[in-house]
Amino acid sequence: MKRRQNICCRPALGYGVTILTLLALIFLFGPSSRAEDKTEIKNIRYSTSHGYTRVVVDLSRPVEFTKKRLSSPDRLYFDLKNSRISSEIRNSLPIGDGILKAVRAAQFDPETVRIVLDLERMEDFSAFILDDPAKLVIDVNAGKQQRAPELQRTVVLDPGHGGHDPGAVGKHGLQEKDVVLDIALRVRELLSRDPNMRIVLTRDRDVFVPLEERSLIALKQEADLFVSIHVNASSNRSARGIETYLENWTDEEEAIRVAARENYLSVRKMKEKMAQYRKDDYVGKMLSDLSRDYKREESLALAHYVQRSLYSDAVRVNRKTTDLGVKKAMFFVLMGASMPPSILAEVSFLSNPEEEKLLAGDAYRSVLAQSIVSGIKKYFSSSVPEQKAARIARKTEDRSGGSSPSSDPHRKTATDFAGR
Ligand SMILES: [Zn+2]
Repeated sequence: MKRRQNICCRPALGYGVTILTLLALIFLFGPSSRAEDKTEIKNIRYSTSHGYTRVVVDLSRPVEFTKKRLSSPDRLYFDLKNSRISSEIRNSLPIGDGILKAVRAAQFDPETVRIVLDLERMEDFSAFILDDPAKLVIDVNAGKQQRAPELQRTVVLDPGHGGHDPGAVGKHGLQEKDVVLDIALRVRELLSRDPNMRIVLTRDRDVFVPLEERSLIALKQEADLFVSIHVNASSNRSARGIETYLENWTDEEEAIRVAARENYLSVRKMKEKMAQYRKDDYVGKMLSDLSRDYKREESLALAHYVQRSLYSDAVRVNRKTTDLGVKKAMFFVLMGASMPPSILAEVSFLSNPEEEKLLAGDAYRSVLAQSIVSGIKKYFSSSVPEQKAARIARKTEDRSGGSSPSSDPHRKTATDFAGR
């Protein structure tokens, strides 16, 4: 910074002034005149964004400064030369955003103002002077590996069906669309008690919303995750239990049947659609795209948390329930390259008379809602943020428990990849 030349001298004084004149000037204008020689620190402010905090020091004019990092406690300081601090500035500005604890400023000696940044977490920083209007800008970069803890998470809940589409219907007339809406509203109620959670529903009443509009809501809301809630049905009335899906290729007949029903397709049509996608293209595309790979890993983790939570809570009320595990299939509502981690939970079977009876009551719905909430919370407290996930994605193939290696096209492809 060589801008000092512009500010350190007072050409109006010239070189010919006598000491007397100088003294007279000092006498006339007093300390404020001397102060005007200096750069004034007028204001200090900050803003926080994803992974970094910007501190802006507003100045009366550009200034020369030195910078240093000190440890225990971890802090950065900046000495602004030939400066004075306005008496209106508070000495300390608390921040507490997970990156900076606070900014402090004080007159270090008659010529120097020291600005101190108390650090919580920092990867690197940069500092520069801007003029017109003059300011010192300090950017503290905490890296993108971690979110600042106070950042809000947006969860999109998707109660399946609605309006003219009842979804599955039980023997006693209970409709899937009503059960899942009620469960979703309970989940919203419970999750919104956490001020860091923002909950959006794809529908909050009995209306039909097309599948593609549901995923669009997740994109528009910049959701951190998407949870579609459904109730299962089977022509086999004794079928019961809980299963959670993520979007992926499957060759399993039962999973294709479930996906067909939730996609409003016959099994034959569903298989035709799948033939259009072609397995190799579909799987190859997923593996070649890091953000999709990230989404798949995270969806898998989310599915496991929710499935485990649903089953372990439900079995206490519904002793005969079965853990059908985490499965994969092509659900249109979960598809989309830019979708956040997404799952579809089938929380019980409406076609099973005992489960229909349970689903009709408050107590069981409340247990299911509660367990979806704890699954989501466990996921959030353990989730791998995106960039890190992208880097380690290749090593985490073995996290895909719940399906046999031979039926998992990803595992096969990943092994081929590793063998090269
Ligand atoms: Zn459904």
